[in-house]
Amino acid sequence: MNFLSLIEAKREGKTLAPDAIENFVHEFTAGKIPDYQMAALLMAIYFRGLNTAETTALTLAMRDSGDVLEFPEDTRLLVDKHSTGGIGDKVSLPLAPLLACLGFRVPMISGRGLGITGGTLDKLDSIPGFKTLLPAAQIVAQVQKVGCVICGQTDRMVPADKKFYALRDASGTVPSIPLITASILSKKLAEGLAALVLDVKFGCAAFMQTKTDARKLARAMVALGNECGVDTRAVLTDMNVPLGRAAGNWLEVKESVACLESRGPADLCTLVLDFAAHLLVQTKQSKSLAVARKQAEDCLVSGAPRRRWDEMLTAQGADLKAFNKKLAQDSTAPAAMELKAGRSGFVSRCDARLIGEVIRDLGGGRLTKESAVNHDVGVDRLAKPGEAVKKGLVLVRIHAADRLQAEAAGARLQKAFEISAKPPTATRLVAEIVQ
Ligand code: URA
Repeated sequence: MNFLSLIEAKREGKTLAPDAIENFVHEFTAGKIPDYQMAALLMAIYFRGLNTAETTALTLAMRDSGDVLEFPEDTRLLVDKHSTGGIGDKVSLPLAPLLACLGFRVPMISGRGLGITGGTLDKLDSIPGFKTLLPAAQIVAQVQKVGCVICGQTDRMVPADKKFYALRDASGTVPSIPLITASILSKKLAEGLAALVLDVKFGCAAFMQTKTDARKLARAMVALGNECGVDTRAVLTDMNVPLGRAAGNWLEVKESVACLESRGPADLCTLVLDFAAHLLVQTKQSKSLAVARKQAEDCLVSGAPRRRWDEMLTAQGADLKAFNKKLAQDSTAPAAMELKAGRSGFVSRCDARLIGEVIRDLGGGRLTKESAVNHDVGVDRLAKPGEAVKKGLVLVRIHAADRLQAEAAGARLQKAFEISAKPPTATRLVAEIVQ
């Protein structure tokens, strides 16, 4: 294959034939196309886009680059949720055991952080002993037994996405509608799902900064998912402000446990319950979103999902004793520092992008494919827009590798907050449903 001519064709805005796409996905997965050439094609796709037929060909070729999961017949339907990524977005963690307790099977194949957004696998890596890389047979066995698994794709599952994902992250080509669509749906289609709900984020810290672009991405994914036989819907959610009051890998695990214990922040609990409700309606287990929401809420407060979480951790090799000991610690990072409000008033801005950048620079995310992640750094006790603060009270607490880094982060984070005399106009967390 002359790969250079494909790069040139896309650079000039031409359409690539489905068999050429299948071919390059295969060759790239087999290590026969160098990263610099694939990065060039990704950049051409970023600027020129892919049409529906090209996106479908890319998605299916990526799905078929490895094993797909095969589950035994069961009355419990297979469902999943996937987010396009944000700051403090830990919804998947409490949602998986909640869905399992609602009678679903949840094979949640997740990814690592991309750009400044956090990744579910990076969060789970902060749990002592927890394994995110499982062979396909173990994923299936765990889903059958526990009802849920959250893990990464093994080398044999959607290996193409694994390679594309890392290269996109390091080549500035993440925010592309066809590349995100193919990345997310290739993984989800390999799970053999009955229903899928997508959290498509918009705002300053999302890959799609405007609601219009998020809607376009949501429509592309919903159409392709449904065409491939998975009942797919998308929810557009606001990512101008971090979700919850904590961001950073371990701090988000801690907040997820709080949510499972019914003491989590309201915005996080809202999304967890909303996504569960959508899946109950999509799979016709509930007649309306209102009924489904109540069903999900009752299940969460029963405590069963919290116990299921421990079962999932145990099944994936976690050391529960060490996990509980870590949970009891106020901070696991070497340095913790509070940033205080310089005046009294109402928080009118809490900039998720800047907060995400600061956390990444503290070591919580990656700047290159090879960067090591520090799981203990991040922020918590975030003051959110609309809340009243008094001069001298905490706006955010920073967890860092040392005092100097905490102070440098604190200086940058001053600019993430704005305090005004009047409460800001309230914004909606859930903006729209695309189905
Ligand atoms: N999540 C994914 O799995 N892939 C993307 O491209 C973006 C978010």
